[in-house]
Amino acid sequence: MGLERSQWFTTEKLHRIQSTKLRKIVETAYMDVPFYRMTYDQDMVQKIQQHGSTSIDCLPIFSKTDLSKIPLKQRTSSKVNPVQCLRRTTSGTSGEPFVILETKKSAAYWKALILRALWAYGVRPGDKVVRFLPRLGLQHIGFFWDNLFNLPSLRPAFIDLSDEVAANIQQIMKIRPHVLYIQPSSLVRLMNYLEKREMKLCFRKILTMGETLTQTLRRRFEDFFSAEVYDRYSTVEVGNIAWECPTHTAYHINVDSVVLEVVNAKTAGRGVTKGEAVVTCLYRYATPIIRYKTGDLVEVVDDECPCGRGLPLLKSVEGRIVDCIVRKDGELISPYAIASRLEHVNGVRRFKVLQDKNYSVEVFVVPSDDVDGEKLVNSVKAELSEILRGLDFGVKLVDKIVEQQGKKFKMVESLVER
Ligand SMILES: [Zn+2]
Repeated sequence: MGLERSQWFTTEKLHRIQSTKLRKIVETAYMDVPFYRMTYDQDMVQKIQQHGSTSIDCLPIFSKTDLSKIPLKQRTSSKVNPVQCLRRTTSGTSGEPFVILETKKSAAYWKALILRALWAYGVRPGDKVVRFLPRLGLQHIGFFWDNLFNLPSLRPAFIDLSDEVAANIQQIMKIRPHVLYIQPSSLVRLMNYLEKREMKLCFRKILTMGETLTQTLRRRFEDFFSAEVYDRYSTVEVGNIAWECPTHTAYHINVDSVVLEVVNAKTAGRGVTKGEAVVTCLYRYATPIIRYKTGDLVEVVDDECPCGRGLPLLKSVEGRIVDCIVRKDGELISPYAIASRLEHVNGVRRFKVLQDKNYSVEVFVVPSDDVDGEKLVNSVKAELSEILRGLDFGVKLVDKIVEQQGKKFKMVESLVER
């Protein structure tokens, strides 16, 4: 299949493919979608036709807030029958929710991108895959996994995240999967439950997505489950953006399927650019998403991967900008940087960092058993004093951190309005 081959093309060739797809989606969006018809002009469309993705910055950028204000009908292609599409709604936890439409064709492509990564990780027909999903996702799953490919044994079993942990674990024991497909926070829940009861489960591979996976968390998963861990960067709005190389060097950006731009960029070391991710999805024609500000802070690196794939490299995804702690002068502190520090403190089992509207920060810590509380509070304070300089912050020991089941868990969250 095409995607299996194209990952080995040279980066130049992949960019040519990207430009061809961009020309097509911009042109059809302009022709068939009222919103783009109103927003774009002929000049813009012509520029894209002439120069492809190198001139993409002639098109306006939209945020989730911008798009959620446009009625779905205005954003839908006149060539598509919405009744035959799957409605996918982005979570409303980080702003206004909005709907995109997925056709059978775009769903098939979405799945092919996942299969490309699974194949690269050595997952083969016969391997049992289990995927954790919130109940809402489970209702729609047939749309993605019904007979689209002739690989029945790779069709995963699904586990409902909103069930109790004990029920989840029972199901896992029954299925005995080789591969687990899960959000980091859900895996932490499983791990804590098992640890407390001195139980153990092993998997060959764990694939994570949807949240920041820190190095420490990755190592804990690897050790506890004796598994190799691979991470993926994707969002509901624009689909699969990047996936970790099997060599763990970095993430490979699916440039044959999306355009990932880094805006408001700063150089962060040799060949490394850090900034906000703006993404264009090149395979969803029903409600095209072109130059969409994902709200994620990313680092791309201009380098070749030892694996030989031509797909360019993304060094890290540092989490959502809305999850960054913000200083009074507007400077952002990455949630990833905060998490990496806290994970080094002995005696921290779990934590949550919450910034109030008035900029003050509260750090909630669940201590490990047999730990000196006062000492722990002081170590956490010492570890964070430099990174949180200029902000009032306190540390509180708690028994547990309440999270809404099935919802994205945020280790770091800021309520400061911006
Ligand atoms: Zn690679």
